[in-house]
Amino acid sequence: MSAGALTLCPECDLLQQSPPLPPGGSSRCARCGHTLHRDRPNSIDRTLALTITGLVLFAIANAFPFLSFEMQGQITETTLMTGVRDLAAQGKGEVAAVVFFTSILAPGLQLVLLLLVLAPLKWGGRLPPGFPTLFRWFKRLVPWGMMDVFMIGILVSVVKLTDMANILPGLSLFAFVALIFVLAAAQAALDPDAVWERVPLRPQVRRPPAPGEAAIGCDVCELVVPAAAADVDARGRARCPRCTDVLHRRKPQSLQRTWALVIAAAVLYLPANLYPVMSVTSLGQTQADTILSGVLFLLHHGMWPLAIIVFTASIFVPLLKLLSLMFLLVSVQLGSHWRPRERTKLYRVTEAIGRWSMVDVYVVTILVALVRLGNLASIEARAGAVFFCAVVILTMLAAMSFDPRLIWDALEQDHDGAAAARVPLKPVASDAVSG
Ligand SMILES: [Zn+2]
Ligand SMILES: [Zn+2]
Repeated sequence: MSAGALTLCPECDLLQQSPPLPPGGSSRCARCGHTLHRDRPNSIDRTLALTITGLVLFAIANAFPFLSFEMQGQITETTLMTGVRDLAAQGKGEVAAVVFFTSILAPGLQLVLLLLVLAPLKWGGRLPPGFPTLFRWFKRLVPWGMMDVFMIGILVSVVKLTDMANILPGLSLFAFVALIFVLAAAQAALDPDAVWERVPLRPQVRRPPAPGEAAIGCDVCELVVPAAAADVDARGRARCPRCTDVLHRRKPQSLQRTWALVIAAAVLYLPANLYPVMSVTSLGQTQADTILSGVLFLLHHGMWPLAIIVFTASIFVPLLKLLSLMFLLVSVQLGSHWRPRERTKLYRVTEAIGRWSMVDVYVVTILVALVRLGNLASIEARAGAVFFCAVVILTMLAAMSFDPRLIWDALEQDHDGAAAARVPLKPVASDAVSG
């Protein structure tokens, strides 16, 4: 990010000037404390090296056996895809699709898109057509890649089965674990500003907004677009001249959409916890397992750290998310001035933790794939898993629909008397923090 460039904070919409960053330093919004920019040295080279390593690991993780289940001399071998196929075969196609997307497709696509974006920046002179769109898709996919959550699911599954059988790791498991770290390192090394700065811009877009002219901050590439300089598409929508995403000052119908998703998730939260998520058949006897009975099982077996993780992720986090989103929605609708910084922080945490609730969906997937020895031992996914999976996805979408800038709008309307005067004429400098 070039020093002195204008930034609109994506969380509170304050216009500010970026200070020069020391190596490894970062800048924070002067009002809400959100990290605006971070200096990541050698970003393109390091991210590209990690991406190529990640693609090799991804191929290995998908080509070899993942886990094997050995019981009374009988062995079942699974790959990453086995659970997805078995869930679909048991009539749980919705869950199978979500598991496939979050544990295989999204991480794989992320790596391919990163390679397509970074390789031309490193080696090619001209950027390929659609370059901004590819990087835009990458950014959209990031929250949906959940390999780290899947890993906790593997741990819980292995613990649940230790009494019953021997679980043997396959080559693919080691590649999968290495890939989690490589993917996290690639995301940490990536400086999106370094990529966006390479997209050529027309001079009329580069100018600062004129006094009194509204500026719109792009949600994807964070370019500050003077209202008159935005592109307009065939349907009359303003589009970002850099990443081509649709521009809007606030997420469209944010409150209505978030309420709708929160209510839907709250309704499904009950069957998700009351209905069994799976049924376990062992030596001819079948027993149904709800999410809570799964937690109690771990507790009875002395695995209280895992019991706490599963209880927090599956029962506490979805409830906490629903309650915090309802609180944020009501506070915005009442035009509350109460602690906007803390409410913005609450939103940030709510958005970040939601994905961890997928743990139990992955546990069901892994168990279904591993334990299929008919009457001797088999596990089947039940209706609760479908409801639970829907709750996790709906709460994630709800958090994404909420616009934290609405929290700050109430304060500004009071100061200036009108919503239109939100853009300060004289930008303040954001705080620089050395790393
Ligand atoms: Zn801010
Ligand atoms: Zn943009």
